[in-house]
Amino acid sequence: MSRQKVICGNWKMYKTLEEAASFVKSLAPLAAESQALVYLAVPFTVIAAAAREAANTSITIGAQNMNDASEGAFTGEIAGKMLKDAGASFVLLGHSERRRYFFETDEFINKKVHRALQDGLQPILCVGETLEEKEAGRTEEILEKQLQDGIGDLESSAASKLMIAYEPVWAIGTGQTATPEIAQNVHLHCRRWLAAKWGEETAESVAILYGGSVKPENISDLMAEPDIDGALVGAASLKLELFSKIVNYIAKDIET
Ligand code: PEP
Repeated sequence: MSRQKVICGNWKMYKTLEEAASFVKSLAPLAAESQALVYLAVPFTVIAAAAREAANTSITIGAQNMNDASEGAFTGEIAGKMLKDAGASFVLLGHSERRRYFFETDEFINKKVHRALQDGLQPILCVGETLEEKEAGRTEEILEKQLQDGIGDLESSAASKLMIAYEPVWAIGTGQTATPEIAQNVHLHCRRWLAAKWGEETAESVAILYGGSVKPENISDLMAEPDIDGALVGAASLKLELFSKIVNYIAKDIET
């Protein structure tokens, strides 16, 4: 399997400057042997400090959100080029918490995807169904809509630059993980959607991460699935001991 493996932490609204810098400094030697790329999506205020600590290590720093405009009178918002300037290399877009608490639509997320690419940030598009949608048997329909409206208008050269994170809303922060089989089936469905849209080569090049209560105990089984290329990790990425285990479970998995 040639697809790049990626473990991405999502710190959400946690960590001060000092906490962030010290975490990245301590993680760097622990992550050095990982076969996966190690990404950390951190709060805006700590991007510069985290990026300084991550320089010349295997850790890549990114953001959790951005505005779709290049700049302007949008009080309280942040532009992609500001994130880039601060040291971010990627940005999470369309996380379910953004969709749910800040009413972000697929159309708005699509504009952000375009802006992120223009600003030289790698977008990680988050998609996922709610419990209600899952129980109604609508998982595939919901994902297809989020993919089509979020990234469906990109050229294949642009599509191959992004990553997708499948995060069932019912598994985020709940302790309930999708079984590896459920996640694999959904990832395969997403990959087939990518292939139908842009062809096999592009579909094979896009990393699809799984997110939702990933922890040291379940990462190996998830990563053993052929279409699970990595993980987006919330709560467990805040604790050095847990996150370093997750990052290194991958190395072990790949080596064996
Ligand atoms: C997330 O917020 O992206 C996430 C997957 O959270 P958790 O790992 O805590 O479920």
